[in-house]
Amino acid sequence: MKKPLLSVRDLGRRFGSEGDAVTRVLRRIGLASPAAIVRAVEDVSFDLYPGEILGVVGESGCGKSTLGRMVAGLLDPTSGTITRPRTPGKALPTQMIFQDPFSSLNPRKRVKSLIGEAPRIHRIAGPGEIERYVADMMERCGIDPSYADRFPHAFSGGQRQRVGIARALAVKPEILVCDEAVSALDVSIQAQIVNLFMDLRDEFDLTYLFISHDLGIVEHISDRVMVMYLGRVVEIGPVDAIFDAPAHPYTRALIDGVPRLDRRRKVYAPIKGDIPSPLDPPSGCAFHPRCPLATELCRTTRPAARDVDTGHQAACHHMDATTKEGEPKWPATLTG
Ligand code: SF4
Repeated sequence: MKKPLLSVRDLGRRFGSEGDAVTRVLRRIGLASPAAIVRAVEDVSFDLYPGEILGVVGESGCGKSTLGRMVAGLLDPTSGTITRPRTPGKALPTQMIFQDPFSSLNPRKRVKSLIGEAPRIHRIAGPGEIERYVADMMERCGIDPSYADRFPHAFSGGQRQRVGIARALAVKPEILVCDEAVSALDVSIQAQIVNLFMDLRDEFDLTYLFISHDLGIVEHISDRVMVMYLGRVVEIGPVDAIFDAPAHPYTRALIDGVPRLDRRRKVYAPIKGDIPSPLDPPSGCAFHPRCPLATELCRTTRPAARDVDTGHQAACHHMDATTKEGEPKWPATLTG
């Protein structure tokens, strides 16, 4: 069995503060309002294997971007651990590609400086070779090296995202965390950047954590998919299993909300209800206020992750009742 490149265990991130000692005492005796703590990510565990693309999906506010920032090392967790690769000569093993190619590049720096700064500082390329190194990175990411002296404003959105990718690749990372990396681009450009990601994976032996709300792109690019709801992982498994036989009602509802050619006659509708506030998450299974299969057990007890199949896990009390010999027994619709 392959050894994971990166392991995440019981990872949590909370925002807000419990207040000072006096406030905590007053709260205990009911004289102060409860602390406003947002549990953005809670008890998340998974492994990332060399060369794979792990897609992370879920509605806005499910914690996927916070998770990505922690994996990229831009945000410290409040609990849990992340074990990153320690390959000799790799100073920065994890890099991040951001959603907005307009604000993620310093507008006052020329492209050659944006791409060349980190490899120069980390001595990946010496002073005599940095120009050639930057040109090579630009070429590999589909940017004409003769544009190296230009500023970011001279590029289109797709070209800027290519600059962002070249900048990340210039420090020879092993893992790229892509946070909605194609969401801000036109549809035709999205396809080009997704293809670029796939080509670069082979060329640079890259591993991806690919965060997106676009299930179509995630299905196309991923080897495995992780589904998050209100800061927790509710299902994880191979891409075919997740899209063809989802075990969790939330995954099923997400997938049913996406138009597909093979479901042309279906009426599409968003998942019922709003995503609850992470300031005050529901008891038991956090999806129970929106789940048509919810029972009293769901309202009181949080479901643990269980095996559905090899490498496929879901956290739902009733997935056995809804799945028989691989054929899900769902109500007529979970959406609308
Ligand atoms: Fe629905 Fe219950 Fe499963 Fe949660 S545990 S997804 S409420 S059936």
